Amino acid sequence: GKLSSRELLGQCLENIKKNKLNSFVEVFDDAYEKAEEIDRKVAEGQTISLLAGIPVAVKDNILLKGKKCSAGSKILENYVAPYSAGVAEKLQKEGAVFVGRTNMDEFAMGSSTEHSCYGPAKNPYDKKRVPGGSSGGSAAAVAGGECLVALGSDTGGSIRQPASFCGVVGVKPTYGAVSRRGLISMASSLDQIGPIGKTVEDAEAVFNAIKGRDPLDSTSVEPEIVNCKLKIENFTVGVPREFFSIEGDNSGFSDGAVSNFKKALELLQEMGLEIKEISIPGLKYATEAYYIIMASEVSSNLARYDGIKYGFSKKEKTLLDGYMRTRKEGFGDEVRRRIMLGTYALSSGYYDAYYGRAQKAREAIKKDMKKAFDEADIILSPTTPTPAFKAGEKTKDPVEMYKADIFTVAANLTGLPAISVPYGQENGLPLGVQFMAPWFEEEKLFYMGKFLE
Ligand code: GLN
Repeated sequence: GKLSSRELLGQCLENIKKNKLNSFVEVFDDAYEKAEEIDRKVAEGQTISLLAGIPVAVKDNILLKGKKCSAGSKILENYVAPYSAGVAEKLQKEGAVFVGRTNMDEFAMGSSTEHSCYGPAKNPYDKKRVPGGSSGGSAAAVAGGECLVALGSDTGGSIRQPASFCGVVGVKPTYGAVSRRGLISMASSLDQIGPIGKTVEDAEAVFNAIKGRDPLDSTSVEPEIVNCKLKIENFTVGVPREFFSIEGDNSGFSDGAVSNFKKALELLQEMGLEIKEISIPGLKYATEAYYIIMASEVSSNLARYDGIKYGFSKKEKTLLDGYMRTRKEGFGDEVRRRIMLGTYALSSGYYDAYYGRAQKAREAIKKDMKKAFDEADIILSPTTPTPAFKAGEKTKDPVEMYKADIFTVAANLTGLPAISVPYGQENGLPLGVQFMAPWFEEEKLFYMGKFLE
């Protein structure tokens, strides 16, 4: 009762104006109305749920009925969602107040939120730097006090990496723990919606609200969330040798990221946890396998944008010319690059050599991960090899950008849940560490995250 939902929303909207991070592509004009509805309920003495009246930001690839949803792409610029995503329905029932939709890399492809038809979003710690991506708008909005929590989507790290760059918490749930209905697909076997919050507790509250089976998403399940029975001091924390060499060569990493990670290990050891170097041999192939499987699924999923069924459309004399012009002008460079890459990897002559082998690598990583969890309760790594990089620094060389995903893609390939928790800084820029737990053991991530916090 100290603060009304209206006041809280007002403060968020003020911060959006003041910060100028380009984190939102649209602020909803009915947000106040929703906030006042909750304030009325409180005044009447009605019982409200935990998230009622809480300003929530939603990534621009999650459908909200009657609102525009563009996935950061010109091809969907004026597309209006005909239904709401499963997660949005759940949050709406809880009384959450949707502030607006947040900026993102086009179709969630990228690690910097520079590939957006709405222009780049900025990092609240240093506006010359990127907020990470592809959920960079959501992470920047949470860090900048422009909402209390946000939804993002994570196909290869797009929740955890921006969370780490912006000094907030990001959770990628177990594959199937959260409905994907109404999430504009990037790569369907890798995509998951998840929360970004200032604290582990905030992210946990949103996860609890959105998890569970959705009869309209056949890949979702009612997770038997496994309760953590261990005392945290008895945890064995596995550090994969292939990810990160504790003593040896860590080229491509910033000095601060290396020393900060070692500090985290020392701290956990001091607190009584066992730190164990483990081996997950398949991890060596994770980034390569990810970029083949993801691109293959992208080429298939994005075939539907032909200028006939959705949004942006350029008519030509022949149907084929119309398709081609629509896709040429509607998609940005990075999206077109991935469609070409994926089409190539799936083409009949190369299918076995690329897609087939990548799937085998994926299976091998999954098996290795299962074994790893016999040795360790939880797996720890940095979230990213460096803190937030400068805008424009990696846009010319796509492979350089892809390397930012080295720690995050394995969770998507295997379906494992993972969390990024802020830990330490380098030159005033936030750094994060990532924990991975066995399938459906999100509880362990929250438990561990709060402990580190
Ligand atoms: N940065 C990764 C990519 O560009 C991850 C994207 C994502 O998780 N949506 O593919």
